[in-house]
Amino acid sequence: MQFIILGSGTHFPDPKRRSAGYLLRDGKDLTLFDFGYGTLLRLVELKVPYQHIQRIFFTHLHKDHFFDLLPFLTTLENQVAQWRLPPRTLTLYGPKGFTRTLKKVFAGLGKKSYKGITIKYHELSRSHVRIGRVSVLSHPVRHYPSIKSVVYRIQKGRRALAYTGDLDYDEKIIPFVRGVETLVIECGFPNELKHKGHLTPRECGMIATKAKVKRVVLTHRFPPCDRVDVVGQCREEYSGVVQLAKDRAIINFY
Ligand SMILES: [Zn+2]
Ligand SMILES: [Zn+2]
Repeated sequence: MQFIILGSGTHFPDPKRRSAGYLLRDGKDLTLFDFGYGTLLRLVELKVPYQHIQRIFFTHLHKDHFFDLLPFLTTLENQVAQWRLPPRTLTLYGPKGFTRTLKKVFAGLGKKSYKGITIKYHELSRSHVRIGRVSVLSHPVRHYPSIKSVVYRIQKGRRALAYTGDLDYDEKIIPFVRGVETLVIECGFPNELKHKGHLTPRECGMIATKAKVKRVVLTHRFPPCDRVDVVGQCREEYSGVVQLAKDRAIINFY
């Protein structure tokens, strides 16, 4: 099983670092975590048979985390019709209220439905979803007051990886991510440029230390992070392994 970084960037256009998107690949079983713009093309570049994605877990519905759902659905609808692919079911997971928002977006595009695609919605809070041998757990977090956001913990046996999406510092997530091998965590802005609703490297380090995680992967870094040593800033608070997330990087899960 692999967790592949499709996009380690933000909403700023950057050909090297696409918006947020991650692929959990377990043999032929394909699950996405967020689907920000640029990540559908990344799936094509990586020769992933994206037509067979079965489910998507959204952390929240900011555009850099879900916009590629729209071209994906249109492409799939066309392929089902033109290539005569069998009808398929796509299951979407997200925080409370995401169904209503998504349906409004679809309606705004004149789409009440996508022909040949059945979309199922599941709203999550403190939830547990079972996919074969894998458990996906969710936990609500603070990002902006205007939007609900969740963090995910992917568990297979004793091994676990957590992916945070966007969040502000909140010690309530520490028990939820405790003991994971890899924490793929939003690291929005350098210590000296703290933005409300996002984490700094120091805060990432504090969470990692308190949760006793083995490795931290700093992702979703806004452009000011490119001008400072964010790894060094994180290490001020955390003595484990710190890495910068890079597009196309593979985190093995065995
Ligand atoms: Zn956001
Ligand atoms: Zn974001």
